[in-house]
Amino acid sequence: MKNNSIKQLIQKGDINKEQLLNHVAEMIFPEQKPIITPDNKSVQKQMSDSPIVLIVEDNQDNMFTIKVLLGDKCKIIEAQDGPSGIAMAQLHQPHLILMDIALPGMNGIEVLKELRREKTTLHIPVIAVSANAMKGDHEDFIAQGFNEYISKPIDIKRFENVIEQWIGK
Ligand code: MN
Repeated sequence: MKNNSIKQLIQKGDINKEQLLNHVAEMIFPEQKPIITPDNKSVQKQMSDSPIVLIVEDNQDNMFTIKVLLGDKCKIIEAQDGPSGIAMAQLHQPHLILMDIALPGMNGIEVLKELRREKTTLHIPVIAVSANAMKGDHEDFIAQGFNEYISKPIDIKRFENVIEQWIGK
């Protein structure tokens, strides 16, 4: 509705005050979107506050341990093998990936290479979580392209420090 048509309506005198105010509001705020309800807001806040962590781990006990250690400070998603880990990473864009190395089929190093090849996942920090705790392993994993390395059995203090470093606020 244009300015002059408002004028015409007023001049004709066949419009009530409420209709006029509605028309004026439509003119002033043509694209106004519905106001965000408190519920929407709190959902958005929760999602932005909780980082998403993807755990790629084929051993259920290790999966359970890592989930317990992460606690409720992040949103956890799980994959039991490499290909589903890659699919989950592409779909959910996690803030951090904890990657077991000994996986059935595709191993953790191959999964990492695949993630780094793909432009939607190449930026995601990936931490190797592996039982091969021998001297020099840390450097080896970093050289492979992992952002960090945590050995199994997991040292709780070290785990917490590393997680804090990558997703802490
Ligand atoms: Mn494994």
